[in-house]
Amino acid sequence: MSDTKYQTLNTKHQKYLTLSGLEPLVVTPESNFINVGERTNVTGSRKFLRLIKEGNYNEALEVARHQVEGGAQILDVNMDEGMLDGVFAMTKFLNLIASEPDIARIPIMIDSSKWEIIEAGLKVVQGKSVVNSISLKEGEAEFIHHAKLVKRYGAAVIVMAFDEKGQADTYERRIEICKRSYDILVNQVNFPPQDIIFDPNIFPVATGMEEHRKNALDFFMATKWIRENLPYANVSGGVSNVSFSFRGNDTVREAMHASFLYHAIQHGMNLGIVNPALIEVYDEIDNQLLELVEDVFFDRREDATERLLDFAETVKGNKKDIEATVLEWREHPLQERITHALVKGIDTFIIEDIEEARLASSKPIEVIEGHLMIGMNVVGDLFGSGKMFLPQVVKSARVMKKAVAYLQPFIEAEKDGKQEFAGKILMATVKGDVHDIGKNIVSVVLGCNNYEIVDLGVMVAPEKIIETAIRENVDIIGLSGLITPSLDEMSFVSKEMEKKNLDIPLIIGGATTSRAHTSVKIAPNYKHTVVHINDASRAVTVVGNLLKKDNGVFKEEIREEYEKFRNQFLKRTREKEYLTIEEARKNNFRIDWNITEIVKPKQLGIQVLEDFDLRKLEDYIDWSPFFRSWDLHGRYPNILEDAVVGEQARELFKDANLLLKRIIDDELLKAKAVFGLFLANTVNDDDIEIQDSNGKIVSTFLTLRQQSKKASGKPNLALADFIAPKETGIQDYMGCFCVSTGFGTEALAKAFEKNHDDYNAIMVKALADRLAEAFAEYLHKEVRTNYWNYTQDESLTNDDLIKENYKGIRPAPGYPACPDHLEKKTIWKLLDVEENIGVELTESLAMWPAASVSGYYFANTEAKYFGLGKIKEDQIKDYAKRRGITEDEAEKWLRPNLAD
Ligand code: SAH
Repeated sequence: MSDTKYQTLNTKHQKYLTLSGLEPLVVTPESNFINVGERTNVTGSRKFLRLIKEGNYNEALEVARHQVEGGAQILDVNMDEGMLDGVFAMTKFLNLIASEPDIARIPIMIDSSKWEIIEAGLKVVQGKSVVNSISLKEGEAEFIHHAKLVKRYGAAVIVMAFDEKGQADTYERRIEICKRSYDILVNQVNFPPQDIIFDPNIFPVATGMEEHRKNALDFFMATKWIRENLPYANVSGGVSNVSFSFRGNDTVREAMHASFLYHAIQHGMNLGIVNPALIEVYDEIDNQLLELVEDVFFDRREDATERLLDFAETVKGNKKDIEATVLEWREHPLQERITHALVKGIDTFIIEDIEEARLASSKPIEVIEGHLMIGMNVVGDLFGSGKMFLPQVVKSARVMKKAVAYLQPFIEAEKDGKQEFAGKILMATVKGDVHDIGKNIVSVVLGCNNYEIVDLGVMVAPEKIIETAIRENVDIIGLSGLITPSLDEMSFVSKEMEKKNLDIPLIIGGATTSRAHTSVKIAPNYKHTVVHINDASRAVTVVGNLLKKDNGVFKEEIREEYEKFRNQFLKRTREKEYLTIEEARKNNFRIDWNITEIVKPKQLGIQVLEDFDLRKLEDYIDWSPFFRSWDLHGRYPNILEDAVVGEQARELFKDANLLLKRIIDDELLKAKAVFGLFLANTVNDDDIEIQDSNGKIVSTFLTLRQQSKKASGKPNLALADFIAPKETGIQDYMGCFCVSTGFGTEALAKAFEKNHDDYNAIMVKALADRLAEAFAEYLHKEVRTNYWNYTQDESLTNDDLIKENYKGIRPAPGYPACPDHLEKKTIWKLLDVEENIGVELTESLAMWPAASVSGYYFANTEAKYFGLGKIKEDQIKDYAKRRGITEDEAEKWLRPNLAD
């Protein structure tokens, strides 16, 4: 010990990173590589998360002890989890560690993305710790502020290669960000350079994506550059990330980790996180495998990835191994095999197993009520406790449905009674609406929980809903819808249910529905229980509670909760201040049109794109909403590496891409677009007149204006503000469009459904929606840079497009700046949408096919997306007059989701 202490003092002059727990840790060139233990991280270890959640700190300490005994030289502690009080957990755990000398021996790495948790850790930690991490993500001011605090608390710091623009993913970006961070830290903050540890991002390789080819090489080169050019700074990284695409194949992963670590250290990485259980000794890696791995790391061959993948197929953890494990579970007893197939969503052997079960049972129905239900209960429990995710459950349902379909003829032949269900539920998308992804997912999940589903599909009239509910004697009615006019329709259905004296609980769901709307606009109409639900796992719980025999208390609680919510909501909205529409118009947004550059579109008039090549749209897809539609929350691509849902997300993403490839290769969906660019001017404050080339008025768009009282200097916006008023005498322009990729969706989804494959049926619709949005994005870019040609030198990545960093906007009727769906009628007429591309409008003005997008184009630099907020009575009146409809009708279209 005394030797080490002496060394510490001595090396201070040498400027080596020096940390300490009860004992010092000096990171010298001789120390080779410092391994950080990370099992005490709630985002990386489910076990640790569980222990902390349960408040079982004693066992959590054992995890830490185990890490130290296993040779960890620094202990990473992370408490970042939505359901945890991170500040409390960090403080408590670090305090506990401090009284365990055999753990407190080593330095702590305080790991959090929340500054308050880091600071809580810094306040109580013993010795000299490391903060993980700070970065330029939120800008320089924040970075400097945090760095100064870290310095004051006397800790070292990990700096992520991340800046305002995002995460560094090339060599150039890595060194640019690290250099900038270093200069700020050393020159402005006076941070000791030896206390800086850079994390230049280890990303997966051999993913098959072109842009990932240089991920390893760029990391190595950036590491080398940092060590040579940023004096005394250190480099760290999480090694296992590099092998993400080989999960499940430990042979290949172990070789990759060993080789990566070897080369990273050669290039100067001196700290990092390596899972000791997943690493091979470098010298013992099979020569052939090593060469293939290093071909990939150093991007030495065009086909490096393919060759490694081919090899991977031949080694442990892959085909052979899977076959072996397949055979292994096939040896298990019958019930275990059936449960396994259901939980894993494997349908390969299900018919075989079900036949065996049938032969062993006295009645075929017993197979459903016995074997299959036992398996599905396991699925239900896993889902309920958060251990299984929505896509997996939908896959389980596929196996279940195939099994049931196989048994059906036997059950009918024997006429031995019906399957006993836990309850019967009617599901319908309301009249005028065509969206059913959410409804279908909920139906599948409820089906898995042994409820009988009567699915009436989309655009279902109230009479049909009520009549079916009575005839089928259902236990619950579920209404779904996506667009705002459906909110009004749901309210109408609830009144009709009351008139018919129905005594059936009502469940409301769908994207624009909310607890506020349900409590204010539906619950008061209907005497029986009304519940709003927006995710599938809650649907199972709520339905279970509603159908319990003694459900009085539950129903009473719901009623009270909604009443309380309604009163609070109404009170809150009453308290806000609003302007009259006249006052709001006086406070409009004024553009100085005399100094505004207006570009005349290269080509005016209407254009149609037919049989558009879907392949061109792939790169424009925004994947985040896709994952959201499957209840996996997080931003793409980070979601693929998320500690909790990452594995699910990757699996889902893989399945989605397989289907997408088929759709594109076999042209299973048709993409069509129509758009027009026109002469336009604002008139009477809020209307936009569209003129033909002779100046004749051919159409008028009615825009709506914000009425909430603004802070001084802030305007009350309407879209009309972005077009030059007619009285200026300046000619302006605007456009509108409709795109669709929905032709073919129905047929394809039906084909999957026929095959009991709800998973892919839902997937088709979700993908068609993604392609439609991608088409809107693509066409908008073409309009900006080509058809209208008002921006020439645009170089935006897909991420920029998703963040709407382009010039001009394409607001969509039904969205916050223009909630009025009636405007679609104007667009349809102006562009002759139905004639040109076949997209129709339903009575609620939903577009059919569902995978369609329509909107306007505004080119002005000042144009931005905004939200309208509440529309007051006077504007409703004024609008009714402009539109030539009654005030009641105007009310119905404009205010379905707002109180009063
Ligand atoms: N990239 C997303 C886009 C969804 S938002 C996706 O793929 O799902 C859908 C569209 O609504 C935007 O592209 C834009 O055209 C429009 N929009 C966004 N904000 C708006 C607002 N405040 N008012 C009107 N339209 C808006």
